[in-house]
Amino acid sequence: MPLTTVPTPPGLFEQRQSPNAGIGVFAIAAIPSGTRILCEAPLFALPDDDDVIECYLTIKDLPLDQQSLFWSLAASSSPPGDTDWIGELRDACDDRLTIHALRDIRPGEEICTAYIDICHDTAERRRILHHWGFKCCCEACETQDPAREARRSKLEELMTVMQRRENKRSFENWGTWDYAEALATVEKIICLMLEDGLEETDTLGVAYENAAEYNLAMGCKEDAVKWAEKDLEIERKCCGEDSDEYANALKLLESARAA
Ligand SMILES: [Zn+2]
Repeated sequence: MPLTTVPTPPGLFEQRQSPNAGIGVFAIAAIPSGTRILCEAPLFALPDDDDVIECYLTIKDLPLDQQSLFWSLAASSSPPGDTDWIGELRDACDDRLTIHALRDIRPGEEICTAYIDICHDTAERRRILHHWGFKCCCEACETQDPAREARRSKLEELMTVMQRRENKRSFENWGTWDYAEALATVEKIICLMLEDGLEETDTLGVAYENAAEYNLAMGCKEDAVKWAEKDLEIERKCCGEDSDEYANALKLLESARAA
């Protein structure tokens, strides 16, 4: 598959020492929610990014300059070159790395990524993040808010239920009752995420998508269209109109409208 690079608007960020750890990326202008901050082709792509040996062998086959670039990104203790700061904001997409602002970012704010699934309470997030060697100092981790902690714990529980049901759906023949039960869980997830201001594609987008599919299966066209439209909006904001996620959401909306 050819790797694509879409130009990033200039003047949005700079890289410098972060007060928390290593080199960080900081906004140098007001960045409105939904702005594409960066879209870059990766140095290499693997079908399974968990395979460390395959990853190592692929790096060894890269030209020498790209190999040293990779290892300089892996150790983020000194400022990399002009365009290589992406090592500080690791994430992965199919054929390129795309980063969008999920909320308005003020000039001077550090631009961060979650690293992990956000549906956990602070203690669990800190436990998972421990081996990255830094302590997350974001607002959610630093402020004591029992209501938010309770919402995140509940979210973790409901996400597990949703994922278990989705696994079963792939090989079970569901009736209306199954869909209705699954939909009730997904609607709770959506409420909790919106209460916490967690608008992102991996969780809220998946919940919207499932809500649309369940309604479609139950013959509730109006609600299917409503959730599919929300899914499309979140994919537009988080991934952009040129993404696979957006194309899939558009397909779902079209089939809901045609139902
Ligand atoms: Zn945090």
